[in-house]
Amino acid sequence: MEKIPYKIYLSENEIPKQWYNVRADMKNKPAPLLNPGTQKPMTLEELSGVFCTELAKQELDDTTPYIDIPQEIRDFYKMYRPAPLVRAYCLEKELDTPAKIYYKFEGNNTSGSHKLNSAIAQAYYAKEQGLKGVTTETGAGQWGTALSMACAYLGLDCKVYMVKCSYEQKPFRREVMRTYGADVTPSPSSTTEVGRKILAEHPDTTGSLGCAISEAVETAVKSEGYRYVLGSVLSQVLLHQSVIGLEAKAALDKYGVKPDIIIGCAGGGSNLGGLISPFMGEKLRGEADYEFIAVEPASCPSLTRGRYAYDFCDTGMVCPLAKMYTLGSSFIPSANHAGGLRYHGMSSVLSQLYDDGLMSARSVEQTSVFEAAEKFARIEGILPAPESSHAIRVAIDEALKCKETGEEKTILFGLTGTGYFDMVAYQRFNDGEMSDYIPTDEDLKAGLDALPKINA
Ligand SMILES: *Cc1c(COP(=O)(O)O)cnc(C)c1O
Repeated sequence: MEKIPYKIYLSENEIPKQWYNVRADMKNKPAPLLNPGTQKPMTLEELSGVFCTELAKQELDDTTPYIDIPQEIRDFYKMYRPAPLVRAYCLEKELDTPAKIYYKFEGNNTSGSHKLNSAIAQAYYAKEQGLKGVTTETGAGQWGTALSMACAYLGLDCKVYMVKCSYEQKPFRREVMRTYGADVTPSPSSTTEVGRKILAEHPDTTGSLGCAISEAVETAVKSEGYRYVLGSVLSQVLLHQSVIGLEAKAALDKYGVKPDIIIGCAGGGSNLGGLISPFMGEKLRGEADYEFIAVEPASCPSLTRGRYAYDFCDTGMVCPLAKMYTLGSSFIPSANHAGGLRYHGMSSVLSQLYDDGLMSARSVEQTSVFEAAEKFARIEGILPAPESSHAIRVAIDEALKCKETGEEKTILFGLTGTGYFDMVAYQRFNDGEMSDYIPTDEDLKAGLDALPKINA
């Protein structure tokens, strides 16, 4: 057998022509989004008031396995895809493990993450519908950057509500978005009713993702020619992100490699859902078996310690209700948490797969995440995003297990992005000032007790 190269490249023609919708192969479908007023499943018409119509259709489609990727989106993908699949020979050697480690690197674009894969799709459908622009929220800033890039390319207006503490702590992220023409507002702001209400109740708040979502949705619904777009959690986003898994699988298939373990970090679940999709499809159809591991921060443990229940996707409770593993929409991770992945809930597709025992989850503490990040940067060269480093941590742990048992397992993990805008977090780590805070059951109780009571 030919030696596997460090990087397995695909050609431009091998960029997927269709997204894969894993819901089509799920026996137990994810629970439907509910209208918070009536507690009935959201209809296409209702969803179309918030989202672009084509995206609302994708959100509701549990049955079509393959959906064509429009040519204009494929052309945009060609500027930064196919993304490389890397064999981590250097890391394997450093760990002295018999395991074979591969990672799919999604940080090769200015936004620095996989989020551009869905941003261009969502902007494209907005443009197709003849809209003026879109609104969204951003926490750490990767999604806002990705969406700004996509909107600039297509000539759409882009309004971003950026969580206030990030807006202040990450001025460079903000300026990247403005360079791409986005209008960036710190959230909570006085530009929306929900923002004014939150400011009146908590004048010193530094904001949260849930609150920024509420402001972005309100602005979309109240502005003629605008819709709201979201960079994670939703089933449509997992669909777009399936390009990650389809490419990874095509590259591995070229060399007849079959992964035993597939690992991804999980915030709202979009990169993990996208990476595992085609492999999970094989598992669901009984064609192959894989072990899937979602990795989340110990300080925001929605899968490992949350409850599987209907919850609000935002703090202002204006979004549809989603059934998901959640810590409650009022949950905010402790202030010392620097590692991203701070969303209170998890994609309803992944939540259902996890509840059905088709996937496992693990939580890791941030100091051990940054130790893994530092090792990876020094050995493999790429400075990873803190979010991505959760997956690195568990990939290293699994490879070290193989060293003990002598098993030659093949491990695939998602390296979702680069960490250049996270140097304040790295600084805390380098100065020995990073600490771990694991919420107590008491800490989690308030958020879980406040879950909405749903009769459905
Ligand atoms: C947003 C982000 C994540 C987490 O989001 P998911 O929807 O869970 O994938 C992970 N890594 C990077 C680099 C991100 O920007």
